[in-house]
Amino acid sequence: MNKTVVIIGSGPSGVSVVSNLRKQGFKGTIIMLSAEEVPPYSPAALGEYLIRDNEEILFWHGRNFCVENEVECFPGERVMEIETDVKRVRTEKDRIIDYDTLVIASGSSLYIPPTVQGADRRDLLNFKTLAGADRIKEMARKGGASAVIVGGGFIGVEIALCLSKIGISPSVLNRRGWIMPRLLDPETSEYVLEDLRSQGVNPLLNTEAAKFFGDDHIIGLETTDGRRIDADIFIAATGVKPNVDFLSGSGIDCDEYGISVDSKLRTNDKNVYACGDVAKTIDLVTGESKSHGLYPVAVSHGQTVAMNILGYDFDYEKQVSMNSLKELSFKIIVVGALEGDEIKYKKNGILRKVYLQDGKLNGFVLVRDISGAGYLLSLLRKRKRVDTLGYSLVDPSFSPAYGVTSLV
Ligand SMILES: Cc1cc2nc3c(=O)[nH]c(=O)nc-3n(C[C@H](O)[C@H](O)[C@H](O)COP(=O)(O)OP(=O)(O)OC[C@H]3O[C@@H](n4cnc5c(N)ncnc54)[C@H](O)[C@@H]3O)c2cc1C
Repeated sequence: MNKTVVIIGSGPSGVSVVSNLRKQGFKGTIIMLSAEEVPPYSPAALGEYLIRDNEEILFWHGRNFCVENEVECFPGERVMEIETDVKRVRTEKDRIIDYDTLVIASGSSLYIPPTVQGADRRDLLNFKTLAGADRIKEMARKGGASAVIVGGGFIGVEIALCLSKIGISPSVLNRRGWIMPRLLDPETSEYVLEDLRSQGVNPLLNTEAAKFFGDDHIIGLETTDGRRIDADIFIAATGVKPNVDFLSGSGIDCDEYGISVDSKLRTNDKNVYACGDVAKTIDLVTGESKSHGLYPVAVSHGQTVAMNILGYDFDYEKQVSMNSLKELSFKIIVVGALEGDEIKYKKNGILRKVYLQDGKLNGFVLVRDISGAGYLLSLLRKRKRVDTLGYSLVDPSFSPAYGVTSLV
């Protein structure tokens, strides 16, 4: 089977499609386009790159990925239009590329709602790109810089911790009264908040961005409660938005939350697949169709797409939300939905909570002692009743060897 596969995007999902196609012996042409002028890299490793200059983990498949995998790569050539009726894409350089199969792996961007005046300003930094991270590095080298991160969710907090570690003073603006409100409850959030403060991050709670100031570049931000905060760097992190703008007029079914796909990750056009952050797939716990915004999901999607291109009949594996902050002073892991009946362990600075619905594990959060996380995840994935285990689900001294046999 020799045909042309065109992939839009060279992030983890696009790279996974290529690796799996070649691993399975695909001999056809692979063309990969990316909006950024750099070899394929992993945005999840930007913090590691910023703090420790770790390029090995950033370019995790090597800088020569395209050559080694015989991929025709077009870095820095954004796709502007897809013509599904004649199976071709048009780039910003007016290059026309024909495809037999198209894979949309265009990922997502960090953003600020357009209701904030100046949200579209070019000097508002995007920490989901290598160029954005490089600009921050440059500011850090000059010394004494300050930053405002608009959005106190998982990514906003992760960015703040990274900046603080390279000598930039960060403030994090958060709409709710507790940090990471979509992931954590107020009690758990308190642990994160305390650690943020101890690491030099200034959390500003119960406030939102209203307006950016500055002529040539942004110098300040006005909040909804009338405060003015001046800084050298402003970073958008109120949410993650799938990159779908170039799909208008293509007939590919999508909305602001991502591209609709079937169980094979095929779009409503049989020659077009979508994977990674840009695709909406079903959450194992909540049943919701959404973009998970996670590295392992992107990689797993890439494998599913490759196998289906090769003619195997693969369904994607339903995933769960899973987050762990990499730069806190302690370990924390949040999995699934923290909704339902709570069982809690709280002792000696350790907090462990599980949430059950209809006896099944819906989600869990482990702070400081994350032992048994893999075991809990396997229970959650099974979607079977676990309520008979009761308090032992959160007890760190409980050995998973007991009880498991009764559940499998
Ligand atoms: C700071 C930070 C920390 C993170 N930490 C974690 C973590 O700890 N664990 C975890 O699981 N996940 C983490 N993530 C999320 C993870 O990085 C993403 O889920 C993952 O990168 C998604 O991969 P993707 O290939 O779908 O999209 P992306 O990585 O977003 O790649 C998209 C690609 O598409 C290209 N593109 C976009 N539009 C076009 C266009 N029109 N034409 C051509 N090319 C285009 C881009 O240039 C890029 O190459 C983190 C993200 C950030 C920003």
